[in-house]
Amino acid sequence: MVGGCVRDSILGRTPQDWDITTSARPEQVKALFRRTIDTGLQHGTVTVMLDGEGYEVTTYRIDGKYEDSRHPTEVTFTPSLEEDLRRRDLTINAMAYNHEKGLVDLYGGLEDIRDKVIRCVGDPLERFGEDALRILRAVRFAAQLGYTVHGDTVEAIRHLAPTLEKISAERIQTELVKLATSSHPAYLRSAYEWGITKVFLPEFDAAMETPQKHPHHRGSVGEHTLWALEETRPDKVIRLAALFHDIGKAATLSVDEAGITHFYGHAQVGAEMTEKILRRLKFDRDTMRAVCRLVLYHDYGYDLEPDLRQLRRMVNKIGEDAFPGLFEIRRADILAQSDYLRGEKLARLDRWQELYRELLEKGQCVSLKDLAVTGSDLIGIGMKPGREIGAMLENLLELVLEEPERNTRETLLAEAEKLRSGSAL
Ligand code: ATP
Ligand code: MG
Repeated sequence: MVGGCVRDSILGRTPQDWDITTSARPEQVKALFRRTIDTGLQHGTVTVMLDGEGYEVTTYRIDGKYEDSRHPTEVTFTPSLEEDLRRRDLTINAMAYNHEKGLVDLYGGLEDIRDKVIRCVGDPLERFGEDALRILRAVRFAAQLGYTVHGDTVEAIRHLAPTLEKISAERIQTELVKLATSSHPAYLRSAYEWGITKVFLPEFDAAMETPQKHPHHRGSVGEHTLWALEETRPDKVIRLAALFHDIGKAATLSVDEAGITHFYGHAQVGAEMTEKILRRLKFDRDTMRAVCRLVLYHDYGYDLEPDLRQLRRMVNKIGEDAFPGLFEIRRADILAQSDYLRGEKLARLDRWQELYRELLEKGQCVSLKDLAVTGSDLIGIGMKPGREIGAMLENLLELVLEEPERNTRETLLAEAEKLRSGSAL
């Protein structure tokens, strides 16, 4: 066993997968097991299937020069475990174990786990030079484990962070998500300080450099964002929404005569920026949509008095799928502001949330799919299929949002007849 699973076992965490390393060549591995998959023969990797589970088995190898900070141009197999461990990125990831030899720890991984230190195997400048993604991995593991990055490794990061530019959006995305959903997402601050975010998320640097002078705030936009991140659950969409909720502030900053900062329209601008960023980092459409929606509405209705009728309109506008997430983002947002009026803000949010529970309990209609009539019901009373039907359904939904009691088939069909004859006049 090698790498992450050895590290996680020492830490008492359940490994996500078990990677195996061996002196056996891929052909030999394939000959030994009944079911194997050729995962990456040119890199020496065969997946062995046992009891419906896959285990990646990789031949000891030395990675050749990385031509472009991305791919090793060539890999050479080696009979030496020591050499295989030396090519790995961090000391905590460079340990192997089997029942015969016990732990093989040639680069001080165990000690670094004990001291809670992230450190490259060998010369960090050389290791980051081979594959720049390791820079981001170092920060990500620090954030996941709550470790400190070793001084020499930090120095090399500062020096080589600009080379992250050569890394593909897909690889960056994977690491960014792991960092954002880690137990210590505020390590993004280090990523900023070391020049990492500048390369693929300059918008965050702008946030770090945008001051907020306002009784409701106690730090720059970026600091507020980091605090908000720490107040949320480690869910991908929620954390990304927390990360981007105020990303539009740098671009919308204005300062009034009293020296107070304002950010009019920042949610709208922020949602547009978020879409651009997530597209650039090659996120999937569903994630992009869900995150952008939360960013767009994170401030919406915030100052209104909680009221069930208003709430139905909000849920209708924002969407039932996104709505519960909004409470999480708002709560985190409030907790990451100054303590000015915090109690009041939280109390109001609680009342909104109570009303939301009431709305769900009562099963009140907030969208077309909950309406007691459908398009075919309208065709049944003689309406022609087409745009007229859609418009009528919207009108009926409007009535029901105002008065939920009206959401019955008889009432709505009668209303439809009335509206039709009204518009025919
Ligand atoms: P997790 O699966 O939790 O992200 P992991 O340590 O298993 O953590 P993987 O990306 O699955 O990480 O990689 C498995 C092992 O391969 C690592 O533990 C490390 O030894 C090695 N490794 C992975 N990526 C690199 C890299 N870019 N450079 C050098 N070694 C790497
Ligand atoms: Mg792994």
